[in-house]
Amino acid sequence: MPDPHLDALVAALSNAGSGETPLDTLRQILDAMPVLVCLMDRDRRHIYGNRPYLDFTGIPLEALVGKTIGDLMGEETFRSMQGQAERALRGEPVQSEGWMPGRNGLRYMVRMHAPHHGPDGAVAGYFVLLQDMTERREIQDDLFRLAYYDPVTGLANRLLLLKHMSDYHTMGEPFTLVIVDADRFGDIRTSMGQGFANELLSDLAQRLQQSGSFDLLARVSDHAFALLIAGECDPVAIERRIETIAGIVRSARTGSGAAVFLSASIGVAPSGADHARSEDVLRDAEIAAGRARAQGGAQHAWFDPDMHTRVVEQVRLEYDLRRALERGQELWVAYQPVVELVTGGLAGFEALVRWNHPERGNIPPGVFIPIAESTGLIVSLGKWVLAEACRQVAEWQGKREPGSSPLFMSVNLSTRQLIEPDFVEVVREVLQDSGVEPGWIKLEITESAVMEKAEQSIQLLRQLRELGIKLSIDDFGTGYSSLSYLHKLPIDSLKIDQSFVSAMHQSEENRAIVRIILDLARLLGFDVIAEGIETSADANLLRALACDYGQGYHFARPVPPAEAEGFVRGVLPWRDGR
Ligand code: C2E
Ligand code: MG
Ligand code: MG
Repeated sequence: MPDPHLDALVAALSNAGSGETPLDTLRQILDAMPVLVCLMDRDRRHIYGNRPYLDFTGIPLEALVGKTIGDLMGEETFRSMQGQAERALRGEPVQSEGWMPGRNGLRYMVRMHAPHHGPDGAVAGYFVLLQDMTERREIQDDLFRLAYYDPVTGLANRLLLLKHMSDYHTMGEPFTLVIVDADRFGDIRTSMGQGFANELLSDLAQRLQQSGSFDLLARVSDHAFALLIAGECDPVAIERRIETIAGIVRSARTGSGAAVFLSASIGVAPSGADHARSEDVLRDAEIAAGRARAQGGAQHAWFDPDMHTRVVEQVRLEYDLRRALERGQELWVAYQPVVELVTGGLAGFEALVRWNHPERGNIPPGVFIPIAESTGLIVSLGKWVLAEACRQVAEWQGKREPGSSPLFMSVNLSTRQLIEPDFVEVVREVLQDSGVEPGWIKLEITESAVMEKAEQSIQLLRQLRELGIKLSIDDFGTGYSSLSYLHKLPIDSLKIDQSFVSAMHQSEENRAIVRIILDLARLLGFDVIAEGIETSADANLLRALACDYGQGYHFARPVPPAEAEGFVRGVLPWRDGR
C-alpha cells in the first residue's frame, strides 16, 4: 500500500539531507536528537544506539552491540524492565515512564516504545527512547512549591492544609485546628514597612515550628497561621498549647532582633461529625479567631455553632446593606433637634441614619453601622448621609422664622471615613454641590476615634476646619482623652455622653464629672452639648450648670424630615406645648 508519509520522508532524506546517502542523513538526525534512542533484538541485545545514547552509557557502538541492558547497567535494571518487555512481546503497546540511574548521578526518565514489527508482522525487537526529564522534574517541584508553600515563611499554605485536612477527613481521623491571627498586623505593616512585617512573620513561623506541638503548621492568610493537631480533641492539652503559642507570639521579634508588642487572636475548632466537608473546620476555627478579635484580641475562643449563625447573619446584613445603598430606597435620615438650653429655642439638628429593611423593618444603627465600618461600606454610606444632611439644612434655612439665627447640622463620622486619603476632598465636594454654608455643618467624631491616632487626627481636623466647617467630639467622657491633646484639637464643641447625663441624678460624684467637663470645655473655649436628656430634671440641672445645648427624648426623638420641618418653622412642642 502506498504510504505518502514514507514517500515524503525518503524524498526529503534524499534531497534535503547534507549526508551522502539518505541513511547517512537519517543517522545525523538521530544523533542530533535530544532523545536517547536504541534498537534491540528480540533477546534484548543492543543492535544500535544513537550518539546521545552512546554518550549516556559511555560505551562505543562496537562494544555496545550484542550487549543487554543487564550487561551494561546491572541485572537489577534488566529485571525491572522484564515486565514491559514481556508485554511488548505479547504485542501490547508499551509506553511507560520510569526512572533510571544516569552516569552523572542524575535520574533519567525512561520511555519504552515497543514492539518493533518486522516485515512479516512478528516481533523483531524493541526500540527504546530515553529522555532526560531532570529539568521537567525540577519545574514540577517548583510548581509544587509555588502551589503548596508560602514563599515568605516557607510554611505549607492554605491549599496544602486543606489537602491534609481532607486526607484526615477521608480516613475518619479526628483533628483540631488552631488559628493564630496576629492582632493589628496591618498597623504594624503600615508603620514599620513590609520588610519588617515579613521578618516578624518569618520569625514567628520559625518559633512556632520549633515548638513542635502540632502535625502541620501552615500560613493560611496574610497574618494568620493554622496548627493542625491530630487525634481526639483534648481541651486541657489544647489550652496548654495555646498558652505556649500566646507566649511565642508575645516574644516575636525580627531577624535583626527588633521587637514589637505582638498579640494574637486565637480560634480553636475540633473536627466533628457535623462537618460535612473538611474545609468547614477551617471556617469554624477562623470564625472563632474572629470572635477573639472582636472581643479585643490577645485572647482565644473555642468555636461554638452560635458563632456561625451570627456570622451568616452578618454576611446577610452586609449583602442587604450593599443592595440598599445601591438602590437608595431603604435608607433615610432622621433629624433630632439640638436645643439651646437657656431659651429652649432650636439650635440645630443631628442627622442620624435609619435603615428600613424590607423584611426586618427598622434595623438600629448600632447594628448596621459596625457592619458598614468593618466592610468599608461606611465610606459611601457616610458620604450619602453628609450630602443628604447638607441638602436638607440648606433647604430649611430659608424656611426659618425671619430674624432667627441659622441652624447647624451635625453629621456623624466614623474612623474608617477619616482614613480615606481623599476624605477632605470628598467633604469639600459635597459642600460645594449642596450649596450649603460650610459654617452650618458640624462633623461629629467620637472621642475614642480622635485619641486613637491623636497626631494624625489633629492634622486632618485642621484641614477640615479650613473648609469652614465646625467640629465636635462625640460621646465625650467614654474614651481616654489625653489632656495634652485635648487643648490642641481644633474643635468647636464637646458632646457629653448620655451615660453621664442619665447618671447625674444618682450621685454627687456623677454630677461632679459633668461639672468638670463643663469647666474644662469653657477653659478650652468649646461649647457643650449634653446628649440623652430624658427628663425636665436633667434639663434643669444642665441649665443650672450653664451647659449650652441639649439633645434628648425630653425635647424630641430623632424624627423624619417632614416632622422636623415643623420645628424649623417654629413649632416647638417642648417649649410651646408643655
Ligand atoms: P450618637 O452619635 O451618639 O447619637 C446619639 C444616639 O442617642 C442616637 O442613637 C439617638 O437616637 C440616641 N438618643 C438621642 N436622645 C436620646 C435620649 O434621650 N435617650 C437615649 N437613651 N438615647 C437618645 P441612634 O440614632 O440609634 O444612633 C446610635 C449611634 O449610631 C450614634 O450615636 C452614632 O454613633 C451612630 N450613627 C448614627 N447615624 C450615623 C451616621 O450617619 N454615620 C455614622 N458614622 N454613625 C452614625
Ligand atoms: Mg453623634
Ligand atoms: Mg453620642
